[in-house]
Parts: sequence; C-alpha cells; structure tokens
Amino acid sequence: MDFLTDYLADVKRRDLLRETPVYQTSDAAHVRLDGRNCLMLAANNYLGLTHCPAVQQAAIEAIEELGTGSGGARLTTGTHSLYPLLEKELAEFKGAEAAVVFNTGYMANVGVISALAGAGDVIFSDELNHASIIDGCRLSRADTIVFRHSDMAELGNLMSRTPCRGRKFIVVDGVFSMDGDIAPLDAIVELARRHKAMVMVDDAHATGVIGPGGRGTAAYFGLENKIQVQIGTLSKALGTEGGYVVGSRELIRYLINRARSFIFSTALAPATIAAARAALEQLKTRPEIVRRLLENAHYMRHQLSTAGLKIAPGFTPIIPVIVGAARTANTLAQELRKEGLIITAIRPPTVPDGTSRLRLAVSAVHTKAELAQATEIIAAAAKRLGVIERVVR
Ligand SMILES: *Cc1c(COP(=O)(O)O)cnc(C)c1O
Repeated sequence: MDFLTDYLADVKRRDLLRETPVYQTSDAAHVRLDGRNCLMLAANNYLGLTHCPAVQQAAIEAIEELGTGSGGARLTTGTHSLYPLLEKELAEFKGAEAAVVFNTGYMANVGVISALAGAGDVIFSDELNHASIIDGCRLSRADTIVFRHSDMAELGNLMSRTPCRGRKFIVVDGVFSMDGDIAPLDAIVELARRHKAMVMVDDAHATGVIGPGGRGTAAYFGLENKIQVQIGTLSKALGTEGGYVVGSRELIRYLINRARSFIFSTALAPATIAAARAALEQLKTRPEIVRRLLENAHYMRHQLSTAGLKIAPGFTPIIPVIVGAARTANTLAQELRKEGLIITAIRPPTVPDGTSRLRLAVSAVHTKAELAQATEIIAAAAKRLGVIERVVR
C-alpha cells in the first residue's frame, strides 16, 4: 500500500493536504479553539438558525416523541409523519407543486441528475458547478459539455454545435459556492427555450439568502415556473441537514421511483426534519433575518475593499478574497486562526490552480463591530504576507 504514503507525501509537499479541524461550537457565530473564543467566518450557517431556540426546541421534541432514528429507507419504513409536512412546506415556499427530501444536497444532485439524464442525452454544465453536480453528471453516463463560467455566448455556441438525439439539460449553481456570484438565470432560461433544454438550478447557497424572502435564485429572477428542477440543501441557511428537490408532481413521483441515492439510503432522523420545518417557519415569519444577512454581507464587502483587499463584486454573503498560491492562502488562514478568526483557505482541486483564496462567509448573527474588527485583522495579516499588493481577480 505504498501508494497511500506516496500520495500523502505528494499532496503535503504541494500544500494541498487536507485535514478535518475540530471546533467546539459555542453559538452560531463563535467557536472555542484551544480555550479561546473565535469568530466563525467560515460556516454556511447564514442565518444563525443552528442556534435559534425555536429550531432547537423542535428537534428536542421530535427526539422525545419519535426517537433518534428513522429506522429505514423512505420507501420501506423510514417516512415518519414529519416528512410529508416538510415536503409540502418546501414546495409552497418555492412556489412549486411538490418536493422530495434527500439525505444531503450531495445525494440530491447525484440522484436527480443520474435519474433524469442518461446515455444519448447532453448536459451543459458550468465549469464552477459544485462537485456533487459533476459527480451526478458522471454517474448519469450522459455527454457532459462544460462551459466557461457564466459565459452565455459560449453556452449558446455549444448548444448550437452539439448534436443530441436525446434530452438536453443545463445545470448551474444558483449562487456559486466558492465565488458567491449568481448564475444569469434569465439568459439561461432563454437559451433553454431556444434549444429545447431543461434547466436544473442548485440553490444550496441561494435558499434563505437571495430572492424575495430568501426564496432562492428562481424567485430572484421571477422565473419559478420556467425552471424544471430546483435543488437545494437544508444544511446551509436552514441550519440542519438534508437535500431537497422541488418541481412538478410528476417530477417528484419519478424521482422517488428512480433516484438511487433516495431509494437506497436510510431516511433522516425525525429531529433533523423537525428542525428543518422550524427553520423554514423562521424564514417565512421573520424575513428580516434575510435582510440583516444581506446588510452584513454588504457591510463586510465594503469594509474589505476599503481596507485594500480585492474581492469579487456581488452582494451575497460568500466573499472570496483571492490570494493565488495555495501556500499563501494556507499561511494566511493559519495566521488568522492564531488571531481568533476562523476563515477557510480554499485550494485546488476545489478551485482552479492559482486562484486559492480565503472564503469568508458572513452571517445574519455577526455584529458590525465583529466584522469591522475582523477586517482590520485580515488586512494587517494580508499586508504582512504581501498579499494586498498581489491580489488579482
Ligand atoms: C454544499 C453544497 C451541496 C451539498 O449539500 P450538502 O447538503 O452539504 O450535501 C450541493 N451543491 C452546492 C452548490 C453546495 O454548495
């Protein structure tokens, strides 16, 4: 098994070795690390709902009433009474006929894409799509044509040029997970119409973040009824875990019968589904938390650029500070950790070579004072490492 040693030595030499850091969470915006209180700027917990008392209470009650596990797959014994309620509420929230919950967003993408597309079909996929979309495309055996990020001229050309006897799909992240920008869904829908393709949007970072009331990318563009498949996760702004798909009643019935990641995995625990329902209820009844999130994102983006850091334009809470080399991004993240800021360095293969970055994720529960102080610390460390002059985008 020498290949393991060789591989690990190689990734370590290239500063790409990955490990799983352990944090002691103290609330939605803070963790304890080596006995010290740190500001969390790396979580996708955009609305702080992981620590919302109503959400926590719903999970506790579900455990007491229904137990800790579901006991089986959805099609056998695992569909406890909370599932259909959540699915109905998700469909309503997204303005769709029906919804189905998967165990994770990853499993939703892999299951949905491989159930809908097959040999002879063509999938047009943005180059920055999430790994779970890429894996779904591979598993489907359809021809996958990758287009340059959000380049609609190229997408149009590829769609005209690519012969296809089967079905055509365009698949994109709604809000791109590492760049925080929004897919040009209006142009995508128009190209799909012209080329008779179906559109799939992954709203992992869009639900609870963009669109009226945090309803996601389709709602942001007012195109709810033009998107055939909306995918998402309960693990980010909704603060729990699980993936979901919304669309027509037929689509959902088809997926329940065809998506292998749905069929062959044990259903989520009652506490998870109860928490998701309570989180969705918070989103519906307190839309001001989404406004606060976007206000904080705007504030942080302004602070960072005023401090001389070059960040990609946009308004979402995902703020990439492009650093370049993987080693520099790593060192910067480590320095910041010593100063009480948890910010992830994102390196290849998650992002292309030479675009390693700090990925900041702002939440609705950060205070402006915390964000201002964090900016000072980041700017000082970036200057020490000579990053501020070299930042390019
Ligand atoms: C996080 C993420 C997923 C996976 O969702 P999980 O629920 O974490 O498995 C899928 N797509 C995108 C764009 C993501 O950012």
